[in-house]
Amino acid sequence: MIYLDNAASTAVHPEVVKEMLPYFDVQYGNPSSIHQFGRKAKNAIQKARKQVAALIGAEQDEILFTSGGTESNNTILYGFPTLRDVSHVSFSFDKNHIITSSIEHEAILEPCKKLEEKGVKITYLPVDEHGIIDSNDVTNSIAENTVLVSIMFANNEVGTIQPIKEISEICKKYQIPLHTDAVQAVGKVPINVKELGVDALSISSHKINGPKGIGALFIKKGLKIVPYITGGGQENGLRSGTENVASIVGFGKACEIAKERFNENISHFQTLHSSMLSRIVKEIPHVKLNGHPEKRIFNNIHFTFLGVNGEDLIIKLDEHGIAASTGSACSVHTQKASHVLKAMDFNHEQITGSLRMSFGYMNTLDEVEQTVEVLKMVVAELRRVSPYKTKYNF
Ligand code: PLP
Repeated sequence: MIYLDNAASTAVHPEVVKEMLPYFDVQYGNPSSIHQFGRKAKNAIQKARKQVAALIGAEQDEILFTSGGTESNNTILYGFPTLRDVSHVSFSFDKNHIITSSIEHEAILEPCKKLEEKGVKITYLPVDEHGIIDSNDVTNSIAENTVLVSIMFANNEVGTIQPIKEISEICKKYQIPLHTDAVQAVGKVPINVKELGVDALSISSHKINGPKGIGALFIKKGLKIVPYITGGGQENGLRSGTENVASIVGFGKACEIAKERFNENISHFQTLHSSMLSRIVKEIPHVKLNGHPEKRIFNNIHFTFLGVNGEDLIIKLDEHGIAASTGSACSVHTQKASHVLKAMDFNHEQITGSLRMSFGYMNTLDEVEQTVEVLKMVVAELRRVSPYKTKYNF
């Protein structure tokens, strides 16, 4: 099997598994307990908090552990003080305005929809043909009641990177907090929250060779958020519930490895990316690279093969032992055409012919070569029965 769907999820690194194991059957104490078992679990969490913080240049007490990217995004959107106040009956929802983009992950768009139902005004910024927002649009959308700007760092479908530093300067000028969903960017782009000037940032463990169901929200010191999970007061009162110690430990280790091997991983992704790109554009006709050619994460490569249905392509690739995707794993549940490609002004044919391949540290050049050979064959096969056969003279 060749696994090229690392943007959906990654293999847990063997060193991460090793680090996690004792927390299932040896160090199984509750971190809130006073005895040694409890203290060991608590220390393990604190160590992981440091490891996560170190990867993004944050302080350890600025890291809130969550169940992943989705919860981190929901926590900031619902937990922001003025927004949270809106859930109290007496507050007027119309008083809040949030700026986001039209190409965010569903974990931003769906909570935004819910907030809109409650009267919060949301501006969805457009993107250009590469999927990049114009930071002037942020400035032009800021209103007196804007309480938050939330723009994703790297897009999960086409891999485009947004001008987060530019946006953070605008937000600073208007004193509006900036959140970024960096789930796809962490480990693929240098990220230092202080240099970037962001106020909140979402991370997910399973995208960086850590376990699933764990992640973090960086919350800059001083930024107050109101918890929406309440109970025993864990995580400094911001997220109650007994901590998922083994997963937190694994996530911490995954962050440590991502930091240590950052340069190595980046250059590996670039090698795989450029090899696949040069061969595909040379050897397969009527194909287009989507997303920005340079302002992108290089573990992601996204194409449109004209005249081909992306889902048929995925099934054919799977028959040959290659795992790829059309884009967001989450939109598969809704069977909707990609909102990202729509926002980039793709027509129906361009949207249906799209294919995302995403690399992990374990992928090899040989796998890229094999994939290109299979792609050449299956694309030609599908084009022989394509309704667009005469249009393109396949
Ligand atoms: N945000 C982005 C950009 C993502 O790609 C994903 C997952 O694909 C998420 C959020 C959700 O993260 P999680 O699966 O950890 O909930």
